[in-house]
Amino acid sequence: MAYRYLFGPVPSRRLGISLGIDLVPYKTCAFDCIYCECGQTTNLTCERGEYVPTDRVIAELDDYLATAPDLDYVTFAGSGEPTLHTGIGEIIAFLKDRYPRYRVAVLTNSAFLTDPEVRAALMQADLVVPSLDAVSEEVFLRINRPCPGLTAGQVLAGVVTFAREFPGEVWLEVFIVPGENDTEDEIQRLKDAVAAIGPDRVQVNTLDRPGTEIWVQPATPGAIERIAEFFGENAGAIGAAPESRAMPPEVEGAVEIILATIRRRPCTPDDIVALTGLRPAEVAKCLRLIESRALIEPVQEKRGVFYRPA
Ligand code: SF4
Repeated sequence: MAYRYLFGPVPSRRLGISLGIDLVPYKTCAFDCIYCECGQTTNLTCERGEYVPTDRVIAELDDYLATAPDLDYVTFAGSGEPTLHTGIGEIIAFLKDRYPRYRVAVLTNSAFLTDPEVRAALMQADLVVPSLDAVSEEVFLRINRPCPGLTAGQVLAGVVTFAREFPGEVWLEVFIVPGENDTEDEIQRLKDAVAAIGPDRVQVNTLDRPGTEIWVQPATPGAIERIAEFFGENAGAIGAAPESRAMPPEVEGAVEIILATIRRRPCTPDDIVALTGLRPAEVAKCLRLIESRALIEPVQEKRGVFYRPA
């Protein structure tokens, strides 16, 4: 079966070997974050819907997981916000019913956690990783560039409520953008927010690959460590990608196609998508994997970030 909605599995910096599920078309999100590694949001929306057929996603999962692959997580992530999809609860329920040996993770921008339907849909997951990058409204608008009507106050209230109700693990992610949310004042507000949420872990993240806005720079490792320490003992920096285990043939196939494309000429991720027909989320994950093998390197050019052989 050819998979349209699954990608990987690939080594993830947080989740080990993770099979990805992409529930929205590229690039559908309620935010247009300046640091997003998937590129600019082309469909900025707060409207939930069945963006891709729920039964097709379930059929792909059934086909793939029936082979009993070695995975640490099945993860709802990809090239947009997974909780925009109204079938996410049904898909999680299918996974927990048919393949209970696999841990299910949901990465979310937290935009919809005020919605009781969304919170209920996530209840059967094992791990939810909500993002919170800002508490001040003006910082939220500058970093996350949300669809109209969404406020930082709503996002924080949603995460607090969700963390109180959710029986699984909550790992809060805070993405640091130097010059935007690393002021003393905002970091203190974020620390207060962490205390209100009470997550199992706080993961402090920064730019690892080129973001949507090319001027966004990573915070230094020292700054990330200091912020994590300030947040408390359950906070830490997101580490390096795990050593790759043997990747399934379809992933190595995609890696080979991308490498062959880059060896012909340096390409942006968008070029690779256009030239290979691979999905943007798959290209993003494979580029990370190839970079971790030190086979390619990014170079900033006028038209964006190009990858060339290392
Ligand atoms: S980082 Fe996440 S929330 Fe932000 S634009 Fe990208 S997919 Fe959406």
